[in-house]
Amino acid sequence: MTTRIDADYLVVGAGATGMAFTDSLLGHTEDRSTKVALVDRRQGVGGHWLEAYSFVRLHQSSSFYGVASTLLGGGRIQEHGPEAGLHERADQPTICAYYADVLDRMVSSGRVEHYPGCEYVGDGTFVSRVSGRRYEVPESCRIVDAHYLAPDIPAETPPYFAVADGARVIPVNDLVRIDHAPSEYVVVGSGKTATDAIVWLLGRGVDPDDVCWVRPREPWMLNRDRIQPEPEIFLGMVADLLSSAAAADSLDDYFLRLEDSGTMLRIDRSLTPTMAKGPTLGSWELELLRTISRVVRLGHLREVRPGRLEFAEGTINVAADALVVNCAADGLKNKPPVPIWRDSAITLQPVRAGFPCLGAAVTGYVEATRASDADKNAVCAPSPYGNTLTDWVQMTLLGTRNAGVLAAEPDIQAWLQRVPLNPARIPPGHDRSPALDDALDRIMSDTAPGLAGLARLAGVPPPTG
Ligand SMILES: Cc1cc2nc3c(=O)[nH]c(=O)nc-3n(C[C@H](O)[C@H](O)[C@H](O)COP(=O)(O)OP(=O)(O)OC[C@H]3O[C@@H](n4cnc5c(N)ncnc54)[C@H](O)[C@@H]3O)c2cc1C
Repeated sequence: MTTRIDADYLVVGAGATGMAFTDSLLGHTEDRSTKVALVDRRQGVGGHWLEAYSFVRLHQSSSFYGVASTLLGGGRIQEHGPEAGLHERADQPTICAYYADVLDRMVSSGRVEHYPGCEYVGDGTFVSRVSGRRYEVPESCRIVDAHYLAPDIPAETPPYFAVADGARVIPVNDLVRIDHAPSEYVVVGSGKTATDAIVWLLGRGVDPDDVCWVRPREPWMLNRDRIQPEPEIFLGMVADLLSSAAAADSLDDYFLRLEDSGTMLRIDRSLTPTMAKGPTLGSWELELLRTISRVVRLGHLREVRPGRLEFAEGTINVAADALVVNCAADGLKNKPPVPIWRDSAITLQPVRAGFPCLGAAVTGYVEATRASDADKNAVCAPSPYGNTLTDWVQMTLLGTRNAGVLAAEPDIQAWLQRVPLNPARIPPGHDRSPALDDALDRIMSDTAPGLAGLARLAGVPPPTG
């Protein structure tokens, strides 16, 4: 039997992007009878955070995450610990509780119905994984794809390498369940999850010499000190992104200039990274990561055998009881950008460089306030996530260009200045300072040469207009 439900929007994916879109749409649409059906194959809201490893935190300030109507973390500053003075970064239980609260409010408004544990199967139809019941929405209902760029996480992705009998391999989530210390840990991955795992192990007293780090690619990471909500800090960083692009004569030169300005970090200063996904890293984490001396760079891992790791470019021996911690999954997807509004769907993607929650929130706002799809696509274009250095530059170029287009719309600009998700805002009433004036002056003078430089570095035509 199929149940027909009454909805104007079917949002497929109740993770960060689906929640941010729904929140902005309902907060700004004039038609107060607009209804949203929120569907997810998971049993709750919050997306991948529901299955994340327990010691994960946002890699950047809580203010930049969540939905536009509700500040996550209250804008609090850390008072203790190695990041004292920086903004709080929510942990997994806080993020999940936040989304549960937001959902409660949405549902109690009477405008959102939540369908947990349901799989969207196309053609406006979804099926409960628990009861088998089928649901369908009317043809007029807009489908919102809120999972196009959803991350794969190690807990739900089988290892990309083979595991021979007798070899010990766990996903990063299982680290907290270890009850017998191995003589060696092998951490596999080059991204944020791997750095989190190593920091966690060292924080539990594991000797750095007992950690082997399989790091197929060297990453550039953003310096967390500079991705902070204070306008002087964030806009100062934007000014450096632009002036460095204008001056750089190659991709490597660009990232080295960003390192000199304190924006980018790399773990091993003797190597030139080839990966730039854009997570932020604290300087205290960098110090810890640099204590790992056994780093294996033999390409991708092919097979784990007891006492041996086989790579594309060679083989190494490890302890017979080595525990391999799989931290390698496609955390950020690199599918091609598609127009956000198409006949078939609204496909949520970042709009500014990175910042998926802001992108989805802006999309919800634009959906609520603009009439035609052509008008919506004209003011709200997608930007990809980073991966290679070229990808990162392209992301920065498109994100900066999109920021300019959005800022030219007075209502959007006014709204963006009120929304903490927007890292580039100057909150109403924020005091001017010489540092802020300097950042704004530099952005003013360096935007055109910076965009031209980014286009040159990305190998694409310079932006027009
Ligand atoms: C460990 C980690 C830390 C991160 N930290 C940050 C951070 O600090 N700041 C930041 O901006 N970004 C961060 N990210 C990036 C990440 O892209 C964002 O966190 C964001 O949550 C992604 O949201 P999403 O809605 O795209 O995906 P998800 O949160 O994965 O939500 C998509 C949902 O769609 C559902 N779904 C998919 N297909 C179907 C279907 N057919 N039917 C029903 N449901 C379906 C899935 O079950 C899932 O719940 C992090 C990512 C990871 C992995």
